Amino acid sequence: MRLAIASGKGGTGKSTVCANLAQSLSETQPVVVVDCDVEEPNLHLFFPSDCDETGVTVGNPKVDKSLCKGCGDCGRFCRYGALTVVKGDHTFFPELCHSCNGCAIVCPQGAISMIPRKVGVVRSHEHSPTLRLISGVLNEGEVQAPPVIHKAKGMADGNALAIYDAPPGIACPVIETMKGADYCMLVTESTPFGLHDLELAAGVAQEMGIPAGVVINRSDGSDDEINDFCASKGLPVLMTIPFDRRIASVQNIGGLISLEIPGWDNRFLGLFRKILDSMEAGV
Ligand code: SF4
Ligand code: SF4
Repeated sequence: MRLAIASGKGGTGKSTVCANLAQSLSETQPVVVVDCDVEEPNLHLFFPSDCDETGVTVGNPKVDKSLCKGCGDCGRFCRYGALTVVKGDHTFFPELCHSCNGCAIVCPQGAISMIPRKVGVVRSHEHSPTLRLISGVLNEGEVQAPPVIHKAKGMADGNALAIYDAPPGIACPVIETMKGADYCMLVTESTPFGLHDLELAAGVAQEMGIPAGVVINRSDGSDDEINDFCASKGLPVLMTIPFDRRIASVQNIGGLISLEIPGWDNRFLGLFRKILDSMEAGV
């Protein structure tokens, strides 16, 4: 099973919920967690351990000037504006290139070849015999998050249970994270911003045809609007985590309530059971 955890905005506590769920599940079965927030991965802080590192490269075009006739077809083809040709001179903007290989394909002279450029790494941490963390890390200044996420997720293939922790927002990296997921857990908080961004994230899951449910984090008890929205969209509310001083004190020092506060490991196992029930019921 592949479970994506997303939120329409940052700061909802999504990664903390993800870490607690993974920790609780790992007590009964092997779990692989993939940190897809490659610009700011932080799950390794919950699961410290040594790691192996694998580079992630993308292909960028290289022009052989001795073959180029200056026709400009490559520049005209590039819809991303990554390659321009002015009076036979090429200008390349690597941060805009999507490595689609199109410029090489359309070049009538066969003057373009694709060369690898490293954009990030994927780190594999064996935190425990039943909990493995795979973290994608995008190089500073890079914008090509999807290839790093794709590589990180690929390294979790073949495991019975993989949890993908998505970046905040609803942009391309989130789409890449949610691709192929069997279920999407949306973490929100009971504020107007939380509701607004939940609506966006729920829309993405719906567009992608991924069944979804909601976890309300840091609830102050004023969840009527979130609950009404979920009811209107047929989204089950899987769990409500209260705004609680004891929980905050554990989380403020980077701890996991599933380990530190009795009973919370079972609540997270219950959350997972609700996800399975929701999938089975087709809601
Ligand atoms: S590989 Fe694709 S995106 Fe990159 S420069 Fe060529 S056409 Fe543009
Ligand atoms: S398409 Fe090929 S020949 Fe034409 S400008 Fe580009 S590299 Fe040169």
